[in-house]
Amino acid sequence: PKEPSSYPSSLEKYYNVSKKVLGRGSFAEVKECTDKRTGINYALKIILKKAIKGKEQMLTTELDVLKQVNHPNIVSLHDIYETKDAFYIITDLALGGELYNQLLQRGSYTEKDAANLIEQILLGVKYLHDRDIAHRDLKPENLLFSDKSEFSTLKITDFGLSKILKHHDDILMTACGTPGYVAPEVLTQNGYGKSVDIWSIGVILYTVLCGYTPFWGENQKALFDSILKGVYHFDNDYWSEISDEAKDLINKMLEYNPDKRITAHDALQHPWFKYEADELKNEL
Ligand code: ADP
Ligand code: MG
Repeated sequence: PKEPSSYPSSLEKYYNVSKKVLGRGSFAEVKECTDKRTGINYALKIILKKAIKGKEQMLTTELDVLKQVNHPNIVSLHDIYETKDAFYIITDLALGGELYNQLLQRGSYTEKDAANLIEQILLGVKYLHDRDIAHRDLKPENLLFSDKSEFSTLKITDFGLSKILKHHDDILMTACGTPGYVAPEVLTQNGYGKSVDIWSIGVILYTVLCGYTPFWGENQKALFDSILKGVYHFDNDYWSEISDEAKDLINKMLEYNPDKRITAHDALQHPWFKYEADELKNEL
């Protein structure tokens, strides 16, 4: 996307914007910036209004909600500037890259590492669900590590924005990103409740433990059929060494009936997290 020639003067008063581009998405360009008052670095996401024609008001409303959000596992919003042509959204900086790329590199995670990741995702999601906000597009591309260290915090990004920026029908398009993480009731357009996020976390948990997704198809239609059936297996070749506690939590997150699916609160109480903590204690 072509960017406007200069930044709003109010933004330039408080922030130095780096020339370096951190990333590009389908709607936004992301740069690094520094708050002159504190020296703290942030990410600056620039969304051209051209790209969201007719939905500017929706974005403004959503940004007001996101401004209230403050949790260590969620990329939080610090500042917003708006001009005739663009929105400038200043958020936490997350320089450790996407879980998606780390997963590609590592193949899969140990249960201990997976428990650490999933717990962080659940803590962030519980915080939002407690405030009646649902993400609706949780997937490894939307989970960013705050830094490159081994103990980096995982942060959820793109909250609320995804539903505005991506065309509704885009959920049904495989072009940008895999739709393999969406709940069956999203595909049948029967549900957009908070429980859709838990399904997605179930898919993420399954995927980080074995290195492949539970639902699969040669093409988009086959993938959707696979999700709509909701049938997945713990293939012996990959799952025989994995604990029953992990499988039980996956089963409760990939519960087909959204009303019976485990909540973020209850998932955090699941014995798997205790089990992993105890295993860790035994190692020390
Ligand atoms: P879009 O919603 O248009 O896909 P994204 O929010 O996914 O845009 O941003 C595009 C890319 O910019 C991301 O894949 C990531 O590499 C980078 N990026 C986004 N947000 C941040 C951030 N807070 N900190 C660091 N890099 C980011
Ligand atoms: Mg993106």
